[in-house]
Amino acid sequence: MNFIQTLAFSRWDIDPASDEPAHGFFMRLAELEGSVSMRTFANWNDLEVNRVATNELMETLERHPMPLEWFEPLRLNTPLRDGDGYVLRGHSLPYHHIRFAPRRWCPGCIHEAHHHRGWWEVESIRHCPIHCVELETRDEGGMLVPWTWLSFEYSRDGFYLGRELPRHDDGAPFARYLLGRFGWLEPTSAPLLDAISIPDVIDYCEFVGRFLENPPSRKHPSVGTHSADVGFEALRGDRGDLAEAVRGWYREHRNNHKARGVAAHFSWGYPKLNFLPESLRQTVRRAFHEAAAFETEGYDRRVTDQDFDVEFMPQREIARKLNIEPRAVELLARQIGVLQKTRERRTVVADAVDTIAEYKETLLTIQETSRRLGIHQDAIRHLVHAGYLTVFRGLNPGRRAGGRYSPEQVDDILGLIDGLPVTGSAAYGLTLHTYRTRNQLVPGEVAVKVLKGEIAICEKRDNVLGFKRLMVRTDAKRKRQSFTRSDDTMTMGEAQALLNMTYETTQILVKQGHLGVVDASPRQVLISRKAVEEFAAGHAKSSDFAHGMGVSGHAVSWTMKREGIEPVVKFVKGGKHVDTVFKRVDVMRVYGLEADPTVLEDARLDRFWEIIVPEAAKICPYLIFPPKLPPSGQRVWNSNRGLSAHFHFDPGLGEIHINLSARGERNKFWFDLKTEDYIGAIKGMFKVFDRMVKEATQRQNAKTREWWRKRKEG
Ligand SMILES: [Zn+2]
Repeated sequence: MNFIQTLAFSRWDIDPASDEPAHGFFMRLAELEGSVSMRTFANWNDLEVNRVATNELMETLERHPMPLEWFEPLRLNTPLRDGDGYVLRGHSLPYHHIRFAPRRWCPGCIHEAHHHRGWWEVESIRHCPIHCVELETRDEGGMLVPWTWLSFEYSRDGFYLGRELPRHDDGAPFARYLLGRFGWLEPTSAPLLDAISIPDVIDYCEFVGRFLENPPSRKHPSVGTHSADVGFEALRGDRGDLAEAVRGWYREHRNNHKARGVAAHFSWGYPKLNFLPESLRQTVRRAFHEAAAFETEGYDRRVTDQDFDVEFMPQREIARKLNIEPRAVELLARQIGVLQKTRERRTVVADAVDTIAEYKETLLTIQETSRRLGIHQDAIRHLVHAGYLTVFRGLNPGRRAGGRYSPEQVDDILGLIDGLPVTGSAAYGLTLHTYRTRNQLVPGEVAVKVLKGEIAICEKRDNVLGFKRLMVRTDAKRKRQSFTRSDDTMTMGEAQALLNMTYETTQILVKQGHLGVVDASPRQVLISRKAVEEFAAGHAKSSDFAHGMGVSGHAVSWTMKREGIEPVVKFVKGGKHVDTVFKRVDVMRVYGLEADPTVLEDARLDRFWEIIVPEAAKICPYLIFPPKLPPSGQRVWNSNRGLSAHFHFDPGLGEIHINLSARGERNKFWFDLKTEDYIGAIKGMFKVFDRMVKEATQRQNAKTREWWRKRKEG
């Protein structure tokens, strides 16, 4: 007799649980029928034996007249094959996300109710979110529990599969989130994940977790037990939180890693981004960028979600827009804080382009910078080298234009000047200019020394700008320049007096080598006394010769020329203050003279001269006297032009006449050399002259100040 069995089960007096899949319920019913092995049961019923064929099992169940409301939840809880993958609770999963071998269970769950749970086949779920323990695959004897074994209470070797475990809600966050998404647990929210599919959530969490939990390595490590949880923790907040998680990894593993750009810092993580779907890839890549940029640029603040929306542009593009050179873009962007050099290619915040353009217009020329700082233009480059100023170049491509300077940095320097301490007495302060000339420093060196506090300041003036305000402290009253020199040399002024020639003539004699080797320094020229005396003994100017012979200087020059005798120095028409100088022997030969006409022999004059020269040295040391007064008289010079005393002796009257002149003010004196009364009067005359000189100097200084004031205002 043929008995055709149409139903696998004769009884179904147990209910399926709300989270139970078809294959689990099927096994429980088979056990209820008295079977001990799924293999035998499947054989009897002509079902697939070698694998868990969920679709077939579900359909077999559905052929039974069971309560209809059972089928919907069973179908939902079962990973059913659909095309290349599975569908579980309405979510499509790729084939590799569902895994039947080895059979897994949570000992806590299975202790509470002896049935299978629909999510134990989702491979990425490695922990139970209810009991927060890892899912198990082996009984206490260490044996796997095969699908052919029907019991959910004991293993084939008799080990109890369950264990009483407390329930937790603070562990296995990834599984908790996923079970929420599947609808098995109360849903939790994770903004970055809520909008994407469950398979993407799984890939995303596993990728990020695998990256974060491992040190840098060339080869990507495999997914670990906690990878998905680590990834989920990084991804459960916003994009800023994700970047901060990556930043934590960077700090731990890459703090002293020298590498350009971003990719090199993240080992396998960067190239393997390609395995993520496009949208996720962009977010993770950007998180890498933010983390590296924030760390290398040294930002203290957290990365925020909004930082991900900031667009960056390549320097070249901005350079084209603003018509400046790319290097100028970099400098400007750095100055206003919108440059992030760590980023690859796109390094400047895109919406800062207008700000960069505006900032560019505020930059100062070198002239303006030097004016505001009150220092010579040459000093600017020293301030640049010392790091106080940045020079902005390339603002006019194709043209060689000077650099520009930041007004903020100029203000910073002015602030530094403001903050310099003022010490010591202001009485003897030197201007920076005087200080640097004395110490033979260039302006820039002085400026940098001042800012570094290496030069003590005793006063800050208010009516001038920047460095000009500063007066350098000196410990003693300024010493007058000391003219310590040997008796072997003399100054130009002394040589002029000795030769009774003008400054210009003396200078020509120096240049032409008539006065020997000259020691010339910027401060003074020293001439060999011997050379000057030798030259004076052999030469004189034409007017000195002329005076002694009662003719004019021109007559002497003309006569000498007619005789074919060239002067040593010649007055040139249009030339200023140049004497015509002849050799004494030439003049005496041409005129047939026995005695030198330039020498005035008078005992009274000699005596007067012996008295007046040392007196003058006491009261007016700046006057330089010739050793002897020539017949033509002589102007006795102060070293400063415009102040003079002209001495002239009249042998007939036996009187000496003196004209004092100091910048417009004149005074006449005369002494009768036939008497001895003039000694006291000489002192009086020098006191008058000294007063005239001082008043004239004050008048001149006042005039100079007035001229500067007008120039500044005009
Ligand atoms: Zn559990």
